[in-house]
Amino acid sequence: MSDCIFCKIVEKEIPNHTVYENENVLAFLDIFPHAKGHTVVIPKKHYNSLSDLPEREWEYLAIGLKRAMEKIKRIFKPTAINIAINDGTDAGQVVPHVHWHIMPRYVNDGGGSSHSIVKNPGDMKVEDVAKLLVD
Ligand code: 5GP
Ligand code: ZN
Repeated sequence: MSDCIFCKIVEKEIPNHTVYENENVLAFLDIFPHAKGHTVVIPKKHYNSLSDLPEREWEYLAIGLKRAMEKIKRIFKPTAINIAINDGTDAGQVVPHVHWHIMPRYVNDGGGSSHSIVKNPGDMKVEDVAKLLVD
């Protein structure tokens, strides 16, 4: 997409620090890192949201994530890692091109777990949710 910042990175119109690249995915350092080695992994093709992402692209993205994570682990030796996708505005997505964050974690870095993203369990009992979701 012509006005998408991540497409411009793929097209090399905007420079990036590439951590891993193959013909389908690009992993590059986040320009405003929340941790040393904070990296985003994107499909080279533009998809706004995960709902648009074909299964094959999920596979490509997972491989890119794995390769980038291996490199980050090798170089910086984080003691842990969070991976996260903000999918949709209410989940905090700002750049409308699917991307997977790799957030390396270090001892006493002051961060939380993915549970700290939200605490809004709603008013349905788990059993009632299960009736709708479980076959
Ligand atoms: P989101 O909130 O959409 O999940 O995250 C978008 C991420 O992209 C943010 O962490 C932001 O720092 C990063 N970002 C935005 N613009 C650029 C850019 O031009 N270059 C790089 N490397 N990262 C960017
Ligand atoms: Zn794009």
